[in-house]
Amino acid sequence: MTTEQSPASATSTRGDLRFLIIGAGMAGILSAIKLSEAGFGDYVLYEKADRLGGTWRENTYPGIACDVPSHFYSYSFALNPQWSHRFAPGSEIQAYFEDVARRYGVASRIRYGKQVTRCAFEDGRWKIELADGSTDTGDFVIAATGVLHHPAYPDIEGLGSFQGASFHSARWNHEVSLAGKRVGVIGTGSSAIQIVSAIVDEVGELTLFQRTPQWIAPAANPAYSDEEKTGFRKRPEAMQAIRAEVSRAFTQGFANVLVDAESPVLKLIHDTCVMNLENSVKDPALREKLRPSYRAACKRLVMSEDFYDAIQRPNAKLVTEAIERVEQSGVRTRDGCLHELDVLVLATGFHVDRFVRPMQVIGRNATVLDQVWKNGPFAHLALSVPGFPNFFLLNGPNSPVGNFSLIDVAELQCAYILQLVEQVRSGASDEVCASQVAMERFDAERKQAAKATIWNSGCKSWYLDRNGLPTAWPWTFDRFRHEMREPQLDDYEMRRRGAPA
Ligand code: NAP
Repeated sequence: MTTEQSPASATSTRGDLRFLIIGAGMAGILSAIKLSEAGFGDYVLYEKADRLGGTWRENTYPGIACDVPSHFYSYSFALNPQWSHRFAPGSEIQAYFEDVARRYGVASRIRYGKQVTRCAFEDGRWKIELADGSTDTGDFVIAATGVLHHPAYPDIEGLGSFQGASFHSARWNHEVSLAGKRVGVIGTGSSAIQIVSAIVDEVGELTLFQRTPQWIAPAANPAYSDEEKTGFRKRPEAMQAIRAEVSRAFTQGFANVLVDAESPVLKLIHDTCVMNLENSVKDPALREKLRPSYRAACKRLVMSEDFYDAIQRPNAKLVTEAIERVEQSGVRTRDGCLHELDVLVLATGFHVDRFVRPMQVIGRNATVLDQVWKNGPFAHLALSVPGFPNFFLLNGPNSPVGNFSLIDVAELQCAYILQLVEQVRSGASDEVCASQVAMERFDAERKQAAKATIWNSGCKSWYLDRNGLPTAWPWTFDRFRHEMREPQLDDYEMRRRGAPA
C-alpha cells in the first residue's frame, strides 16, 4: 500500500490546509484554480480516468455539442476567443478544459487512473482510499464527481443477443463505421437528437425508437467568423458582453421561469416549440407522432436546428411502437415488426441519483452517506450534508440543472465553499458542515417549491426522484445567486476538533 500524501500534509496547520479534489472535470479543475487563487497550495485532484474533462471526455458521440452558448459555457475568468460556433462541439470543449488546466497549473496536480473508493472522516481529517490500494489524507474533500456519468442501460429483453454492434451514447465505439449501415437509436433525449442529426447523412438507414416525443426548441448555431474571433482576441470585453447578455437572457427568460409553471413566458416557450414542429414537419402523420402530450420544458428542453430535417430524410424512420425485445438481427416491436439493424445505439440516459457513489463516504460517528441518502440524495444548498464535515459537493443533489451553465453554478458554489473554508483557515472552527436543522428546513422548503415547477406538470423525466418530485433547485436562479453570495453561518455546525457531539 502506498501513500499519496505530500510532505506538507503531514504537518498540516490552519494556514496549510490540504484539499482532496475528486474528479478532474469542469468542476474539479475550477476548484483547483480557485483554491490556488485563495492561497491554498496543498491540493491534489484524483481522476479515475486517464484524461481530464469529465462529461466531455466520456461523451464523444457524433454531433455532441453543448446547448448552452459557448461564451457562457466558459469559465468567467478564462473566456475563449476561439470558439468556432455559438454552441461549441464537444471536442472543442474538451480541448478548452485541457488548455485551461495546463495554463492554470492544474494539469500537473491531477493523479490519473486513481479511482477513489472510500472516503472516511477519521480523527478530524479525511482519509481516502483508492482502487489501487493507495491512500491519502486531507482536511477537506471537494467532490466534483459530476451528475450525468453513470450510463443507464435499458432493461430490454434480449439486448445481449444482438449480433451487431451496440453501445451507449456515452460509451461511443469509434471503431464501428456507420457508413451505409442500418443504424437504430433508442431514445429521444438531447443525446439522441444530436446523434440522429449528425449521422443521418452517413448511414444507410436510420431508425429512431421513440418511447416519448420531445419538444424541440429551434436553436440556430452560426459559426464565428475569423473577423469575430480576432475581435474577441483584441477586445475580450466583447466576449464579456456576450456572456453577460446570455446569462441575463437565460436567467430571466428561462431559468427563472421554469420554477413557476404558471409563468406566461413558459407559454411563449411552448408556442415556439409548437410552431417549430408545425413549420418543420410536413407529413401530418409524422408530425402527430412527434407531438408531445405534455408541456414544453417539463422534460429538459431539447435544442436543435436540424433534428426535424434529419427525421424527414428518406433514409430515416421514426418508430413509435413499443419495443418488445432485441433479437440477433435487430429490434422487434410490439406490432410484431422486426427492424433489422447493423448497429444499435442506446441513447437511454443516465442514473442521475448517484453523485459521488459508488464511492463509500463515511462521515462523523461512522455515518454512511449511502444510508443517509437511502431515500434519495440531498444536500443543504446543494453542497453540504450534515454529519459530513469539511466535505463539499459541486453540482451536487438539488443544484440548478435545468438548461443552465453548470460552469456558472459551480463558480458560485466554489466561491461560497471557500468562505466556509475560511472559517477553518481563520481558526474560528476546525470542522464545518450544514446543521441538521438547516438541512431539514431547506429540504422541506425545496420539496414544497418543487411542486410549482414546470418539471412537475405531468411528464416523466430524469429531473424526478423516485416519488415523482423534481429534485433540481426549485427556485429562481436569482435566488441561487443570492444564496451563494455568503453563507448564513447559523446554518452551519462549527466544531473544534474532538469536541463532543
Ligand atoms: P435522457 O434525456 O434521459 O433521455 C433518455 C431517452 O432514452 C429518453 O427518450 C427515454 O425515453 C429513452 N429511454 C430510456 N430507456 C428506454 C427504454 N427502455 N426503452 C425506450 N426508450 C428508453 O438522456 P440524454 O439524452 O443522454 O440526456 C440526458 C441529459 O444530458 C440531458 O437532459 C441534458 O441535461 C444532458 N445533455 C446535454 C446535452 C447538451 O447539449 N448540453 C447533450 C446531451 C445530453 P422516455 O422519455 O420515455 O423516458
